[in-house]
Amino acid sequence: TGTLMRGRRGLVMGVANDRSIAWGIASACAAQGATLAFTYQGEALQKRVAPLAASVGSDLVLPCDVTDEASMDATFAAVAEKWGRLDFLVHAIAWSDKDQLKGRYIDTTRDNFLRSLDISCYSFTALAQRAVPLMGPGGALLTLTYLGAERVTPHYNVMGVAKAALEASVRYLAADLGGLGIRVNAISAGPIKTLAASGIGDFRYILKWNQYNSPLKRNVTIEDVGGAGVYLLSDLASGVTGEVHHVDCGYHIVGMKAVDAPDI
Ligand code: NAD
Repeated sequence: TGTLMRGRRGLVMGVANDRSIAWGIASACAAQGATLAFTYQGEALQKRVAPLAASVGSDLVLPCDVTDEASMDATFAAVAEKWGRLDFLVHAIAWSDKDQLKGRYIDTTRDNFLRSLDISCYSFTALAQRAVPLMGPGGALLTLTYLGAERVTPHYNVMGVAKAALEASVRYLAADLGGLGIRVNAISAGPIKTLAASGIGDFRYILKWNQYNSPLKRNVTIEDVGGAGVYLLSDLASGVTGEVHHVDCGYHIVGMKAVDAPDI
C-alpha cells in the first residue's frame, strides 16, 4: 500500500469477477489511495461487481453497455453528479463471437467483424468523448490490448484486427488530448485465464507456450498488470502517452521457441 494515487478518482470499466484484469488494476489503484467507481454489463454481473467495489470502499457502481449510447451517457452523468470530475478511466472491455475465435481469420463474418470492432475498439473512443470533459491536466486513459494486434497468434483472428485498431486509436487519442494534459496509453498483457480468455481456442496451450518461452519463464498475473496500471494512471508516468506497454514477462521480444522449452 502507498499514496501514489491519493486524491485521484477513477472509473473502472470491465470488471466481470475477481479474475478480471480490470480488477487487478482497480485493486492496485485502491491500494495506492485512489477513489474508484465501477461499471458492470448486465444484472448478472452486478452481483459480482458490487461486493468487489465495496471491498475497496467504492460506493459508485453503475450499469454500462458500450453498445448503447444512452447507457454510456447515463454512466458519465452519474459520475459528473457524484464527483464533478474524473482523473482516470480504465477500459478493459472486449468481445467477439467465440465461434470465430478459433479456426481461420478469413472466415470472419461482417456482422461479427462490426460488432467485435464496435465493442473492442470504438468503445474506447466513445468513452473518451464522455470522460474528457470531466478531466483536466493530469487525466489519464488506459486500455488493454494483446500481442495478437502486432503479430499473428493462433485463434485471435478478428480480435487481433480489433486490437490493432485499438492501438492505433490510442495514438490518435494521445495526439488529440496531449494539449489538454491528458495521457492515453495501453497495456499489452500476456495471456491470463479470465472469462473473456476462455472463449479463445486452445487457450491452455497458449498459456503453456508463453510460460515456457517468455524470458521470465512464467505467465503474468493480474497483479503484474495492476502494478503497470498504477504507473500509467498516476503521475509516475507524467511524461508517457501514446504508448503500448507490454506486461507479458517479456514474451514479445522472443523470436523462436526457447531451446529448453518442453513439448506441450
Ligand atoms: P473479462 O471477461 O474479465 O473482462 C471482459 C469485460 O468486458 C467483462 O467485464 C465484460 O462485461 C466486458 N464487456 C464485454 N462486452 C461489453 C459491452 N458491450 N459493454 C460493456 N462491457 C462489456 O476478461 P479480461 O481478460 O480481464 O479482459 C479485459 C481486457 O483485457 C479485454 O480488452 C481483453 O481483450 C484484454 N486482454 C486480455 C488478455 C487475457 O489473456 N485475458 C490479454 C491481453 C488483453
